[in-house]
Amino acid sequence: MKTNSIESVETTDLLTCVTTGPCTPPATSSSDNSSADTGLVAPLSPHGTSTQCVHGGERRQKSEGAIATPIYSASTFTFESTNELLEFVEGREQREEYGRYGNPNERVVEAKLAALEGAEDAILYSSGMAAIVGLLMSRLSAGDEIVFFDQCYHRSREFCSKHLARFGVVTRQVPTGDFAAMEAAITPKTKMLVSESPTNPHLTCVDLEQFAAIGKAHEVETLIDATLATPFNLKPIDYGVDYVLHSATKYLGGHNDLLAGVICGRRELLDPVRALRGCLGSVSSPHSLYLLERGLKTFALRMARHNENGLAVAKFLEDHPRVDRVYYPGLPSHRTHAIAREQMRGFGGLITFTVKDADWRETSRVVDAAKLARIAPSLGGVESLIEQPLVMSYFGYTPEQRESFGISDNMIRFSCGIEDSADLIADLDQALATLEV
Ligand SMILES: *Cc1c(COP(=O)(O)O)cnc(C)c1O
Repeated sequence: MKTNSIESVETTDLLTCVTTGPCTPPATSSSDNSSADTGLVAPLSPHGTSTQCVHGGERRQKSEGAIATPIYSASTFTFESTNELLEFVEGREQREEYGRYGNPNERVVEAKLAALEGAEDAILYSSGMAAIVGLLMSRLSAGDEIVFFDQCYHRSREFCSKHLARFGVVTRQVPTGDFAAMEAAITPKTKMLVSESPTNPHLTCVDLEQFAAIGKAHEVETLIDATLATPFNLKPIDYGVDYVLHSATKYLGGHNDLLAGVICGRRELLDPVRALRGCLGSVSSPHSLYLLERGLKTFALRMARHNENGLAVAKFLEDHPRVDRVYYPGLPSHRTHAIAREQMRGFGGLITFTVKDADWRETSRVVDAAKLARIAPSLGGVESLIEQPLVMSYFGYTPEQRESFGISDNMIRFSCGIEDSADLIADLDQALATLEV
């Protein structure tokens, strides 16, 4: 093999993989109207999720025959001659140019994520928040409005209400799941409807069919932050949602060792979003992208365990005498259980619960008594994490604000890792037992 041609062949193949999609599922059959409407690739791919995790987006033969994607630690990519540069700028050759516009590690992970999501394209960002900011900045202009369901990640809320407002974008919040209120809040200036499903930290699931239908009826784009669901458990694109967003920091990376975010959707919609990312510069390092690719190889295996642990721990908590309320969409007691059962393959590893007859101090004692679970923000990693939202994420808010967000003093958020569920249950049991003394 000629070593001097490896780099260009490789890059071209990767790009072909993304743009013409030998690695992504084929176009949908015309019998599937939701996909035919949107022109999306088929929701049912010819390969199973685990196979897509391992092979999706990847070339069969890589540089020097390496089975794993090498880390392309390059800020820039060289051209052999002005003629080669002309081929590129005239669009006759697709290849890498400069790290802020993409790199080979990113192409592979984007193609893998697009395949997993059943989307035409995916754009990676340096974090989940960078992805949200990147999308909204690209799609909204002064005078535009967005409507979003009020239960959401607190920084997403802050970006919309505090920062987008400075650029003349109006944010309207309506109660989560209240579609009548959502429709009533839509005006001729509304450009996007935004929600999470399930929401953080109440795990409320949104009827995506209704959500997407309202968007279509009013010709307004729809965005779902499906970080808590992941493409293993939920495929918002199948319901006609325009943009699916994930904090890849959570389940997709899965090892609590990187930050990344991704937006998936139709290429026609994403092209200008990608162009703006080239200006914002919110790209990941090739090293982080390598870790994300490695994490994704075991994503399906990990999710199966997260789902299993989530359900087992939620059932245990619901039966515990010192637990007041459990928010877990897999439990029939959850107010959106029916929607979750209809839409989701599993319910994930995140559980929120309240401690019975406990003030914030007693609640923090339970958190402190956990021996396996670590005290930290974040979720979706192999290590179980425990936190008290009052202290962790909402300390700077007034009691009235916290009440309006549904954050109570006796609330605990538990992110099940992939440990043995019996050990997680034993750990929580002994932590709750400290209260009874
Ligand atoms: C963590 C999280 C984000 C933000 O992602 P980062 O990668 O931390 O920037 C956005 N949405 C949800 C639902 C999250 O849990």
